[in-house]
Amino acid sequence: MKTIGMLGGMSWESTSSYYALANQLIKSKLGGLHSAKICLYSVDFHEIEQLQHAGKWQETASILTQAAKAVEAGGADFLIICTNTMHKVYQQIAEQLAIPVLHIADATAKQLQHDGVSCVGLLGTQFTMEQDFYRHRLTERFGIDVIIPESEDCAFIHQVIYQELCLGQINLSSKQRYLDIITKLYDKGAQAVILGCTEIALLVSQADTDIPLYDTTKIHVEHAVDKALE
Ligand code: GLU
Repeated sequence: MKTIGMLGGMSWESTSSYYALANQLIKSKLGGLHSAKICLYSVDFHEIEQLQHAGKWQETASILTQAAKAVEAGGADFLIICTNTMHKVYQQIAEQLAIPVLHIADATAKQLQHDGVSCVGLLGTQFTMEQDFYRHRLTERFGIDVIIPESEDCAFIHQVIYQELCLGQINLSSKQRYLDIITKLYDKGAQAVILGCTEIALLVSQADTDIPLYDTTKIHVEHAVDKALE
């Protein structure tokens, strides 16, 4: 089994999902006392969040590159960055490492393509929904059209991520509004909706709606576990 490198802490609420899911998957595939080989570096999310909202992305790239190098030195065979948003600096991190970095949007896009989805709704932070780095990758590399919520809804989704989900708070009123937004995206033509923030699955799940949801945390971990067992 290969060692999965994880760059986490963004937030730790979702990193604990990554850790649990990777171990559950390895256990279900190998049985018995098998567990995932993981080398995890968990950052202080306060520092990252402050820099994100100040637009200081180069500084976030420096912190994450240093952490990623520590994961590589710790014996990881490849790396996953356990957040959609910080894939904004994917290239800066990946080019400093000798090990491969498995892109969360690529793993998700391959699953969408496999399922024949060509137009998808996207939920995530405002950085992920409104900037180009994520949407354009889906469209340019995989030919998938992306629909995002209207700006008021984008602001609401973003606020819930940072002020509730990353703090471990689950509110039913936020869940209902997320589900309403998912329905609006479906009504606009999205065949499915990407939960493009690694905390959103803490709030909504496939059991809450008939509209197909693509949980990026789960997809990213499944991809990593497949690679670990290759
Ligand atoms: N975990 C989130 C994501 O997947 C948001 C936190 C962050 O800004 O990294 O985008």
